[in-house]
Amino acid sequence: MPDEELQWSDPDGHGEQSVVDCEACQSVLDDESDRTVSFLLLDHLTIPVRSCERHLDRFSTICGLTTEDSARVLDHYPAGGVACPACRNARYDTSRPMVSVDGGMVVLTACPDHQTQILQRFDTGLETHQQLTASLDGRDAV
Ligand SMILES: [Zn+2]
Ligand SMILES: [Zn+2]
Repeated sequence: MPDEELQWSDPDGHGEQSVVDCEACQSVLDDESDRTVSFLLLDHLTIPVRSCERHLDRFSTICGLTTEDSARVLDHYPAGGVACPACRNARYDTSRPMVSVDGGMVVLTACPDHQTQILQRFDTGLETHQQLTASLDGRDAV
């Protein structure tokens, strides 16, 4: 079986999901200003996200596993802008989901529609990632 439980469970068992292990993520989350917003480009979606460089990279890699085009992260406002007006305004919404990624935290400052879409990508990507890891670990005869 794949070892995803080691990777994604909380060894302390406190269940305090608001605690971020990554200091870089935490400082981005504490800073509410616009300069901490990055943009995840995936297929035709432009999703405003906030996290540290390392965990954004991780998040986009996992989301990118579900698509033929690779996901990209921009640290500046995209040239074409954010196509979805609801996403543009979503940063004023306080009910943003936080996704825990490998010890870090990614906040999706997108509209509910696009949050759902990107979270589905992420979930599917995680499964794909775990299958890849499992097949690498497996010593089955070819
Ligand atoms: Zn981080
Ligand atoms: Zn949107």
